[in-house]
Amino acid sequence: MKKKNLDILLLPGDGIGKEISLEAKNLLDWISKNYEFEFELTTDEIGGAAVDKYGVPLTDHTVQMAQSSDAILLGAVGGPKWEEIPFEIRPERGLLKIRKELDLFANFRPAVVFNSLRDASSLKPEVIDSLDILIIRELTGGIYFGEPRGIEILSDNQKRGFNTLTYSTYEIERIARVAFEVAEKRKKKLCSVDKANVLESTALWREIVSNVGKQFPNVELSHMYVDNAAMQLVRNPRQFDVIVTTNMFGDILSDCAAMLTGSLGMLPSASIMASSKNKRLGLYEPVHGSAPDIAGKKIANPIAMLLSVGMMMEYSFNAKEINLLLKKAINNVLKSGHSTMDIAIESDKVLKTHEMGYKIINELEKLKNE
Ligand code: NAD
Repeated sequence: MKKKNLDILLLPGDGIGKEISLEAKNLLDWISKNYEFEFELTTDEIGGAAVDKYGVPLTDHTVQMAQSSDAILLGAVGGPKWEEIPFEIRPERGLLKIRKELDLFANFRPAVVFNSLRDASSLKPEVIDSLDILIIRELTGGIYFGEPRGIEILSDNQKRGFNTLTYSTYEIERIARVAFEVAEKRKKKLCSVDKANVLESTALWREIVSNVGKQFPNVELSHMYVDNAAMQLVRNPRQFDVIVTTNMFGDILSDCAAMLTGSLGMLPSASIMASSKNKRLGLYEPVHGSAPDIAGKKIANPIAMLLSVGMMMEYSFNAKEINLLLKKAINNVLKSGHSTMDIAIESDKVLKTHEMGYKIINELEKLKNE
């Protein structure tokens, strides 16, 4: 079997980021033993660990390594140790810097319900059974970045705060194209969420998304206002497959969708940059943070991190079958009653981080040989 050589930059970060990254490494080893991929893994620091080692939360050299790699895997950053240092070098700045430097404009947040955890959701099991939706959020434009912005003083006791919501054709086109391409590989259904009845910039959003849609005639496109989308997400989330939306609407809707699944330790994410030279660089990371309250105890749930590796295989390396097998293995392990502390299913089957990672790889091995 001819191997594809891939350079992966691993940035474990702080707290449980380091613990769950070990499990990601083991999964990469398993994939390279069983598939045509050979990973060249380079590890570097980000966040508080980078502040301690280099004096800044992300060095330019690490950014260069990220740019020349095939994909980036990130654990989590932050912790009480760095809460008193100046804002410009706080661990979280490392995260913002890498997203900005790599122009990661498309953020993918899947909300997948593993049926063994259906009772963990605040919604009725019959509403969320087998839920598998994907929210694609525009990440580098819109109201979070628009100028002018600020707070001005009008008079002695009056101030005015203002932000600007702007979107240009190219920004909408590139996120729409990514969303259609992904929808094409899933159920060929895309819902674009906007507020076109009130906001001109999102009326433009609707127009451009519809135009891009003409190049994807096999994808069924629908449009929904954001207030209705929020309501529909909790009323009947399974009506959606892929949702594409602006930065702020995506921020809110993706958190709402994520919590349909009931647990922070289970949620992966991907951020993708524009393609260049047939390469679409992606950064993959769990949604959760560095969990200082449990860091060092080796009890963190590694599933969000493992699913981030699964997303990397699907979206960066076109190996959807590996992601599917991984999700099946995780579901089987959870179905057998095994869990980590945060999602405890049966109290006598609670595993430590490494034990959970090991169980999932064992299950993958079984499924692969079936
Ligand atoms: P958090 O996500 O770290 O933790 C919230 C709660 O969820 C904690 O009780 C934690 O123990 C639990 N938890 C999170 N992930 C878990 C896992 N894999 N397994 C088991 N339990 C898990 O959020 P927080 O406490 O608000 O923030 C802690 C630090 O993380 C802060 O410094 C914050 O800035 C940073 N943070 C970083 C990221 C990131 O790196 N992407 C995201 C959010 C927060």
